[in-house]
Amino acid sequence: MNDAWRALPAAQQPEWPDGGAVDDAIRELRTYPPLVFAGECDALKTKLAAVARGEAFILQGGDCAETFNGVGADALRNKLRTLLQMSVVLTYAGSVPVVKLGRIAGQYAKPRSKPTETRDGVELPAYRGDAVNGYDFTAASRVPDPSRLLRMYHSSAATLNLARAFVSGGEADLRQMHAWNTDFVRDSPVGKRYEQIGRDIDKAIAFMAACGANPSVFHTVDFYSSHEALLLDYELAMTRIDSRTGTPYDTSGHFLWIGERTRQLDGAHVEFARSLRNPIGVKLGPTTTPEDALALIERLDPDREPGRLTFITRMGAGVVRDRLPELVEKVTASGASVAWICDPMHGNTFETPSGYKTRRFDDVIDEVQGFFEVHRALGTHPGGVHVELTGDDVTECVGGGFALAEADLVHRYESVCDPRLNRSQSLELAFLVAEML
Ligand code: PEP
Ligand code: MN
Repeated sequence: MNDAWRALPAAQQPEWPDGGAVDDAIRELRTYPPLVFAGECDALKTKLAAVARGEAFILQGGDCAETFNGVGADALRNKLRTLLQMSVVLTYAGSVPVVKLGRIAGQYAKPRSKPTETRDGVELPAYRGDAVNGYDFTAASRVPDPSRLLRMYHSSAATLNLARAFVSGGEADLRQMHAWNTDFVRDSPVGKRYEQIGRDIDKAIAFMAACGANPSVFHTVDFYSSHEALLLDYELAMTRIDSRTGTPYDTSGHFLWIGERTRQLDGAHVEFARSLRNPIGVKLGPTTTPEDALALIERLDPDREPGRLTFITRMGAGVVRDRLPELVEKVTASGASVAWICDPMHGNTFETPSGYKTRRFDDVIDEVQGFFEVHRALGTHPGGVHVELTGDDVTECVGGGFALAEADLVHRYESVCDPRLNRSQSLELAFLVAEML
């Protein structure tokens, strides 16, 4: 394992307390079994290679920040159902396989734009995710606690175990997912608009049934976990040498991404990810230059391995049509083959006068639309979407079929970090993306 990253600056790391507790936690983590297997990461890489070739689409979604208290069967089932329902619509509309990737089972650490948070004149360290400190606004809760890294592992393990059971144990049945979409179309104020797609999927399913087709893929799906590889202590402790190939895989999740705030070319995160064999994503915000993108390819995918590298662009609805074309054009001209996916959330966040962080559903859709337009114009493949969502009826993003207003945010704002699309907004997004496909 290449250790060069240790000498480089690592952004966004917690200031763990002195006294060796973090070393104890790391030592303990090293004795735990892997959460995912290297062979599964390779299988995902093969699917992402198909995305890069234009033969598949990625749906990546889940909470901005998972919480330890949120590890429960109901919330996970609702989230998975929502993702699977969305993927039925996208599979039908795109007539291509949809790679299902959760921001699930490991998304416990958050980069922050400011190191502290001030409320009513009191300034405390910022909340950095349940993996680091507590969300409660007290000095004690905001102290980084290394024992949280162990809880991160156990919470990830419990979540992944349940997710694996859900997707292989009948919960993922295609007809059931479609039946729930039919309910959505019937009950949503904007459902009329999607009746045609719903009817077409009905017909396709009836046709397959009439032909006697009943393959296992109608009842189970492949589902993969992903999170931002932010806390290098944790990610390194979960990195193991694959016995088949003798190469290192970070076994904390199948797919790991590097965030907009930690993608410095001379920083520790890029160098660390370079040494892994997992498929890797990098977020690219509006200040990314083509040279940055090409240098990231050189660092992270020097062998041009199909499926290795995914660029997750998050430009903002207002600038995606200006900033994205040059990146896609120069990367494509270089001969590199990456998967491009659109994160329409992180470039569209704003704060309401009442102090809620929110996003407009229309901006989210507009960024996806811009992303499709740019790729269509260049003849490249709009490879997928990356969204922050939940399967519950929260009120965190404004707009959508039920026309949530800023005044509604107070009713059910549960995110500890960024605002998520609720179930209905998520399904509506899937139908709108289906129309773009
Ligand atoms: C996120 O995905 O929650 C996030 C912080 O994104 P970004 O790195 O793109 O800002
Ligand atoms: Mn977020």
